[in-house]
Amino acid sequence: MPDIIDLRSDTLTRICKSDVETLDFAKIGDDCYGEDRYVRELEAYCAELFGKEAALFMPSGTMSNQVGLRCLAAPGDEVVTEVGYHINFFESSAVSVNSGLVLNPYHSADGILTAADARIAIQAKARWSKLYAAPKVVAIESSINSYGGIVYPVEEMRRMRALCDEMDLSLYLDGARVLNACTRLDMPPARYVRPADMLNFCFSKGVGAPFGSILAGPAEKIEAARVFRKWHGGCLHQSGLMAGVALDKMGHWQRVTQQDNDNAEWLGRRLGEAARLKYPVETNMVFIEATDAKGVAARLAARGVLALAWKPDLLRFTCSSLVTRRELERAADIIRASL
Ligand SMILES: *Cc1c(COP(=O)(O)O)cnc(C)c1O
Repeated sequence: MPDIIDLRSDTLTRICKSDVETLDFAKIGDDCYGEDRYVRELEAYCAELFGKEAALFMPSGTMSNQVGLRCLAAPGDEVVTEVGYHINFFESSAVSVNSGLVLNPYHSADGILTAADARIAIQAKARWSKLYAAPKVVAIESSINSYGGIVYPVEEMRRMRALCDEMDLSLYLDGARVLNACTRLDMPPARYVRPADMLNFCFSKGVGAPFGSILAGPAEKIEAARVFRKWHGGCLHQSGLMAGVALDKMGHWQRVTQQDNDNAEWLGRRLGEAARLKYPVETNMVFIEATDAKGVAARLAARGVLALAWKPDLLRFTCSSLVTRRELERAADIIRASL
């Protein structure tokens, strides 16, 4: 159905012929032999963009997180995080099965796991003997998906770094949409992510690539990540086909994330007149409260607008390059009429 306006997720962007036609196929080789020039270019580009020594192309954000945490901790170790962060909300089984790590998820006041929160979470468990799980990593997220795409504050990240230094922990940033956050802050990515030892970023979200993520960090950790990625079956052969498209999309990240953030801000204002916004709109998504989210989503779908019933009382609308401002205006009218 051509008239559908899909606001469920920014992962739903379509690949088009021109995305692939502009690729230089001669650059595509076997990445397991280190012979794919697109993959190497994309890794170098991201290491520079995020100001880290090295970066590794990953098939998914989940694998990036799994491998990243495994690089910073060993089986039996503990990772402090927030209950709503992707690493706990979606990946808790994966963390336990893949890496043998235990999560210590904290319920923060407003979605920001502060350094003070992390200290409380750490002090809540037995720390007087090496017989018990030892906290090794604090995992934060930005933008924060489960809390409406809000931005993890710069000053708090610095405070978290200080706590990590004090307690000899690593700081991991799940930055699946970190460029939307940087655009919101008008801050260079390398500066924003500097306090984090390692981070994940997803090409398949805001920038609109069909595939892939990047894990960035110290060279020695990225070498370890190469091994863990192989264990996960994530060393791919001609992955330059995907890396080449991602690299091309990265050339437009500022424009695209700005446009998506602006669109969400506009949508938030329109919907805020008719519904309660659950969170301030800071990046590319809008969450509204609804007593029967599933029911509203079904009514919307019947009228050609797709939204995600995130929780029984919460609807998520995501802006991406899949939806134009004109379509968004039409969607806003339909949403307001369906509440
Ligand atoms: C999407 C997402 C991931 C996982 O990425 P996949 O490519 O879907 O595995 C991780 N963290 C956050 C915050 C995300 O939004």
